[in-house]
Amino acid sequence: MQMEKLYRATINKWGEEAQYDQAVEECAELIAALKHYKRGKIDKQAVINELADVTLMLGQLSWMFGQKQIDEAIQAKLTKLDQLMQNR
Ligand SMILES: [Mg+2]
Repeated sequence: MQMEKLYRATINKWGEEAQYDQAVEECAELIAALKHYKRGKIDKQAVINELADVTLMLGQLSWMFGQKQIDEAIQAKLTKLDQLMQNR
């Protein structure tokens, strides 16, 4: 798979820890972008760009930690959320 090849290449070039740091940084940028968007300081495209960065990092981290386990955790959380919505 193309993405897998890319994820592996980034680990080989920068190492695992650098990917954790990069993920933290991209999340912080998205947090700041949402705050700025709310106050009308940046446009929608700037938020989209930060969302793209975070989405890519989530792909990288999901690959590192195990996509299958994450899919299972997501499914469990969706089930819980669905139950919560039905009990309202
Ligand atoms: Mg960013």
